[in-house]
Amino acid sequence: MKRIVLLMALASLIIAGTAQDGAVTQPADFFGYQPGTDRKLFTYEKLIEYLRVLDGESPRIKLEKIGESPMGKPMYIVFISSEENINQLEALREINRELALNPDLGAEELKEMVGRGKVFLLATLSMHASEVAPSQSSALVAYEFATTEDEKKLEWLDNVVYMMVPSHNPDGMDLVVDYYNKTLGTQYEGASLPQVYHKYVGHDNNRDFIILTQEDNRAISRIYSQTWFPQAMVEKHQMGSTSARYFVPPYHDPLSENIPAGLFQWIGVFGQHMATDMTLEGLAGVSQHYAFDNYWPGSTETCQWKNVIGFLTEAASVQTATPIYVEPTELRAGGKGLSEYKMSTNMLLPWEGGWWRLGDIVEYELVSTRSILRTASTYREDILEFRNRLCREQVALGRSEAPFYFIMPSEQHDPGELVQLVNLMKEHGVSVYRLTATIELKGKLYRPGDVVIPLSQPFRPFIKEVMETQAYPERHYTPGGELIEPYDITSWSLPLHRQVTCMEIDTRNTELEGALEEIEGSYSLAGEPEEGAVAMVLPVEVNHSFRVAFGALKQGLKVERLSAPLEVEGKTCPAGSFVVYPGSRKGESWESVLQELDFRPVWIGPGVSVDAAPLEMPRIALVETYFHDMDAGWTRYLFDTYHIPYEVLHPDQMKESDLVGSYDVIIFPDNAKSILMTGKQKSGDDYYLGSYAPEYVKGMEKEGLENLMTWMDQGGIVLAWGRSAGLFEGVLKIKHSEREEEFQLPFRDISSDLAKAGLEIPGSLIRVNLERDHPLTMGMPESIGVFSRGRPVFRTSVPLFDMDRRVLGTYPEKDLLLSGYASGEEKMGNTAAVVWMKKGKGQFVLYGFNPQFRASTQSSFKLLFNGILLDRIE
Ligand SMILES: [Zn+2]
Repeated sequence: MKRIVLLMALASLIIAGTAQDGAVTQPADFFGYQPGTDRKLFTYEKLIEYLRVLDGESPRIKLEKIGESPMGKPMYIVFISSEENINQLEALREINRELALNPDLGAEELKEMVGRGKVFLLATLSMHASEVAPSQSSALVAYEFATTEDEKKLEWLDNVVYMMVPSHNPDGMDLVVDYYNKTLGTQYEGASLPQVYHKYVGHDNNRDFIILTQEDNRAISRIYSQTWFPQAMVEKHQMGSTSARYFVPPYHDPLSENIPAGLFQWIGVFGQHMATDMTLEGLAGVSQHYAFDNYWPGSTETCQWKNVIGFLTEAASVQTATPIYVEPTELRAGGKGLSEYKMSTNMLLPWEGGWWRLGDIVEYELVSTRSILRTASTYREDILEFRNRLCREQVALGRSEAPFYFIMPSEQHDPGELVQLVNLMKEHGVSVYRLTATIELKGKLYRPGDVVIPLSQPFRPFIKEVMETQAYPERHYTPGGELIEPYDITSWSLPLHRQVTCMEIDTRNTELEGALEEIEGSYSLAGEPEEGAVAMVLPVEVNHSFRVAFGALKQGLKVERLSAPLEVEGKTCPAGSFVVYPGSRKGESWESVLQELDFRPVWIGPGVSVDAAPLEMPRIALVETYFHDMDAGWTRYLFDTYHIPYEVLHPDQMKESDLVGSYDVIIFPDNAKSILMTGKQKSGDDYYLGSYAPEYVKGMEKEGLENLMTWMDQGGIVLAWGRSAGLFEGVLKIKHSEREEEFQLPFRDISSDLAKAGLEIPGSLIRVNLERDHPLTMGMPESIGVFSRGRPVFRTSVPLFDMDRRVLGTYPEKDLLLSGYASGEEKMGNTAAVVWMKKGKGQFVLYGFNPQFRASTQSSFKLLFNGILLDRIE
């Protein structure tokens, strides 16, 4: 104890600036222990404090703020390089930009830049905050390179600028470390955090790099899309505990066919050097071509589609910072690429089991980081030259190979989504243009103002990947053998997911190329309010109308919803559209509503008679479990973004809560019935406990479900999607004051029968035809793509007694798959995708898909918003 106190005192003396003779503060002196020590974790603030000390003490270290986390913590890059490089970062950045974006560099210019340039190597650490070791080791990496006198390492620092983001997820890092410290020394030491380790999305923060909804991800994406243009990038993760110790590239199949072969080869070069260096240092269990594939974009490595040699590493985990002992008999092959836990070409030196500690992971991290730096240094000139070669090749391909342009007409079913898409592509560093003349292509007219994205751009692979429809590259382990499954979802097409009409143009047209004007700054179709207008009508077809209307309501403005269609100047605004009145017109609230508008509303003047009812927001409960509930987290994100007020209700609170007095609508995002009911995972007849402390292992139980049904009976509205729909299948019970009533809703989930018959959808866009004469489908087109995993699939039946049902969305019999992979999908034909049901005064809407999937399926958002606004049955 005395020693720690002494060390702390010493550390604070050093922070106070008394480090002598240019000494650099050692991590152990600063933190009071060596990072990587069992059961010791520092917080994000402490880490940044230390790195700031190094910034002050070492000319090789420089901190730069790059943004803020969703919960408002500052985020940084730590530049680590030779003093000379640190002093000329701006000049080096210019070289990066030229190499990345200029296809017209002359041979001499290129040679000069390659001669002067340095490899910028971005490392993003511990985005999954429970994977603590990479962030914990960052202090050691910074200290090592701030102080090294080793000639080899000094040479690396001359050739490479290491850009370390010490924590990709500062909010999560503090949540995890604080909770771990709370459990320390208790029976449940190392228990999992009973919530998502992020403001909203938890582990799905690594599924967000196409749509960039989260602030921390935008800050990271900007580094490679707009500001620093590093040539290489590594994201550092951890994986399960009982298979390989460490994953390095190359990846497993399948691969994205939009990424150039040479880029995959370079990823392999870094991976092969890591595997060699780590194995020669005696670090066992390094595996390649294992588990992780290179097909799906959405992780931090989405930079691969922007010509960055991007890859990940994964270390085997401990219980947060508590060591584990792995029996040799517990070691097993897991994940594709490793069929036996034995010496094989994908794992040459298996780890034999035994103790596995935080310090072991930190050691693997240090060796792998040194190896990456060494590789970047060794191949400096080749890597810089390669970056500009990709830029030239991709720009040239965009001129010689179809598709040549994507064109999105400015007239859209939902023009707000076009605006969002354009601004998103600009955020990604893609140049977007508007047409300045009328052009005819294959008999179709394109008009001034239509949006054009030419493919002849350095980030062409990215443009193709996110604008095209996905066709899964089917590969098999042996000819005709088992299909190689995708790691994650198989559809991400931005136009399809947003219901934005987009034409792929396969012939070059010089007239069109001469009539393009780049869209600078933020893109908007809002225009100015019309002179003399007394209100704006926000069409129900536009997702953003809901956002603006809900925002206006929150600001206290008068908002109505049209009960019947409204004709204004030859334009029809359908029933369900919103009318917003400015009131005093000059108020701040009105200004903020105008600011949020990014499409043109219909302005109405005095004397227009409007058949409308006041918009009232229902009282909403959103059910979120304790178990890293990402789908609920995404729903919170969507609701906050759309100004939808709600309260979070944990399933166990359903037992005690006065639901009748508190809520009008209760929402169940996708979760397993057994988790919602009991807090335990069910497999077959058995229940499984997770790694959570017992105070969180609880669910609604029978009483909670009965309380919910009693609330429903008095006019409550349930919205449920995905597996949660299963809560309402079978016999349910209402407790009246005098008696109990049993009933059974007129539907069942037939997806397990379909799966047995061969239906398989790993996460794809599937066509649904909609009935459009119902409040739930207001503003929807006849047919949309929904994000489906092939379950649940509903079959309704003729209702009894005081129940009713309507099938509002149906899977067609043919052409179901819009984007991604599916097998046996025709078996879903003519079954129900969206069902509205009533029981007495209560209502249910069940969705066979996630209408807000990862905030990336804008085509089905309105099915959720309209559900929230359903009229109560009185
Ligand atoms: Zn991870």
